[in-house]
Amino acid sequence: MRPIAPPSRVIAHLLVLIFALFLVPAAPAQDEPPAAPLPVFEFHSGFWLNLHHTLYRQARLQRSSAAGANAVTTTAGMNNLSPSEARAWNSALAFYTKTYADKDLTVSLEMILIKNQLGDFETCADLTGTKKKTCDAGLPAQLTQTLESAAPVYRAHLWTEHDRSNRRWIAAVAPLVRRSGLNLSHRLAEIYQTPWPKERIRVDVTSFASSNGAYTTLDPLRVTVASTDTRNQGAEALEVLFHEASHGIADVVQDAIFRECRQREKPIPRDLWHALLFYTTGELIRPIAVNSVDGNSSSGSNSSSPNSGYVPYAVREGLYKRGWENYLRLLTQYWQPYLDGSVTFDDAIAHMVSAL
Ligand SMILES: [Zn+2]
Repeated sequence: MRPIAPPSRVIAHLLVLIFALFLVPAAPAQDEPPAAPLPVFEFHSGFWLNLHHTLYRQARLQRSSAAGANAVTTTAGMNNLSPSEARAWNSALAFYTKTYADKDLTVSLEMILIKNQLGDFETCADLTGTKKKTCDAGLPAQLTQTLESAAPVYRAHLWTEHDRSNRRWIAAVAPLVRRSGLNLSHRLAEIYQTPWPKERIRVDVTSFASSNGAYTTLDPLRVTVASTDTRNQGAEALEVLFHEASHGIADVVQDAIFRECRQREKPIPRDLWHALLFYTTGELIRPIAVNSVDGNSSSGSNSSSPNSGYVPYAVREGLYKRGWENYLRLLTQYWQPYLDGSVTFDDAIAHMVSAL
């Protein structure tokens, strides 16, 4: 979600080559009605990926635990460990602090590979293949050992609560995806002049998903969303999903901005493409959200209400006030006419760049 360039295609292709992916179907959510599969997205609440993100988050908090608030968060839910559980958990945290805490979940190839692999092996009881041959995840030995020794502690103390939150989040967003998902995907594909992926996009729902509450990795295109993040609740969840998915089909925007800048010998504006993605998804979600906001869907939000209309993510989170002030003006003036159908894609980008 944060304004950074996605991992390069080259790196992402490596990802495909290195690991053979064993796609597993989404676990049926307890709260989800037994209906036809959802369009556009497939949601997963996987044990190993949630454990991995929990250790990563706690390791980062512990590393910078000067603040008392952080220390409390670090130990939340893990206060009643037996001595052997505490030893296993602390040693896992020490390994994560040393090995992964400094790496960025969203750009580190190593972290992306681990994340994808743990997602693919979510139904496995272990990661070594001891119980089932196909469950050998091929991860680094020390990571495998760390996860397996932390697993019983996580399962006993946090997983039930995390999984329940994840499934609750999935159950809340599912009706919105069912109602509006296909139309939104068609419209975004049209706007970005890029086919929407044929396969449903995998969404890993976790207790933590980077400091931004959600992130996307490419090739394969996968979204990770934090179920408990206040920014991802109600109709906002739909916007987050489609913003994230847009990362997979918006190369054409970056290319067009770069091309126009080169022609005009202007410096490439940092993150204009990303501001455009935020703006576009926000504008598309706005009418849907206003119509769908009710007591259930807006329960997690304290920044928009049924009466005040829908406030898109970038406005809500103040992104346009943190260096993107000019972008909002450009997008409103030159990109919105394209969304309204009155100018072409190329003209809209050209007008924006010439007005920079
Ligand atoms: Zn983004």
